[in-house]
Amino acid sequence: MFDKDGNIPYNNQCCPDAGMLDVRPVLYAPGKSVSFRLSLDLSGLEFAGRRPIPEPVDVEGVVRNRADALSLDLTASATLDAVCDRCGKRFALPKTARFHCLLAESVENDDDEEIVLLQDGQVDAAELARTAFVLDMDTKTLCSPDCKGLCPRCGANLNEGPCGCAPEPDPRWAALSALLDAPDNESERK
Ligand SMILES: [Zn+2]
Ligand SMILES: [Zn+2]
Repeated sequence: MFDKDGNIPYNNQCCPDAGMLDVRPVLYAPGKSVSFRLSLDLSGLEFAGRRPIPEPVDVEGVVRNRADALSLDLTASATLDAVCDRCGKRFALPKTARFHCLLAESVENDDDEEIVLLQDGQVDAAELARTAFVLDMDTKTLCSPDCKGLCPRCGANLNEGPCGCAPEPDPRWAALSALLDAPDNESERK
């Protein structure tokens, strides 16, 4: 997706082991860009007692030299092994996190934009991607925005159709009817 720039003669390969990306080739070359791909293993990370990222996270990114500023953009994508918070269904959830920052050899002004400092002309692209992906993990997961959840009485998954239980009475009416109910009606109500 970043191939539009097309001017990447030097380094279009995966980062070395640690995910360090050497940006020296574009550091003083306005208009040049260098793209990178790498893969993250986040399978050991736990969220709420589960490990929802069993598959490698694919990272694609590009560092551009534009107007004397180096910018880094990346996307980190994976399919999560998710569980719906409402109905408990396990499902595959495609997820993509995006990250953007400026790269600099030193901080010269305090811009609003996030600046990541280079270390000997290199940036730890894997660490940036990892942080971006983890911070973007949702705290709440639903199998669909209108998941109906489970019946509080019988536990049936209401997405698969009504379970036959009577609807939950509105608690306000329940309180009222408790006031109105004569004690001798109690046995007849079920
Ligand atoms: Zn659900
Ligand atoms: Zn039910």
